[in-house]
Amino acid sequence: MRCIDTTWLKVYNGTMNFPALQLLVSRENIQDAVKRLAGEITRDYRDKNPVILGVLNGSFIFVADLVRRLDFPLEIAWVKCSSYESGRHTTGQVKLAPGLDPDIRGRHVFVVEDIVDTGITLAFLKAGLEKKKPASLKLCTLADKPSRRVAPLALDYTGLTVPDKFVVGYGMDDGEKYRNLPDIYYLED
Ligand code: IMP
Repeated sequence: MRCIDTTWLKVYNGTMNFPALQLLVSRENIQDAVKRLAGEITRDYRDKNPVILGVLNGSFIFVADLVRRLDFPLEIAWVKCSSYESGRHTTGQVKLAPGLDPDIRGRHVFVVEDIVDTGITLAFLKAGLEKKKPASLKLCTLADKPSRRVAPLALDYTGLTVPDKFVVGYGMDDGEKYRNLPDIYYLED
């Protein structure tokens, strides 16, 4: 039987040094999702001078790609949440990092998250932001893992739906690794 050498595929995907990773969403498919979202956001926010509020750290690449497709006035701000400590399971206790406290009173706020899993992080963040009396507050995520939802959460904009796997790349990490990879991968158990 003829053996096909697939090493080049891994080189192409940039995972030669990460044998535990399996490609889930290619960079082309990610960009298709980003482009579609940018179209929806342009339609809804063109005249609103929104605050694009990125949730650090995971959303930094998504925000950077998304805002470069938005050609109308907007501001960019950041909040930092964490509930995962350094593992793959949420602690259920969300912490807001001090120092990042954007003034959003009376503004149209557009929250940008990398991935929603249990929903605990965004539900916590949404409740906190609403107390600051924004003019409006919408939630956007690049990736959604709906099968894992614990906290009831209505997402306004979703790029991709992903299966119940721990995913990395395109800003998302496992213990701070893999954020730099341009595609989205899942980790083999
Ligand atoms: P949630 O509170 O369970 O919805 O988790 C949201 C946060 O957990 C995201 O902002 C990510 O930082 C992290 N997270 C959840 N699932 C994953 C994953 O599959 N890969 C990487 N990070 C994840």
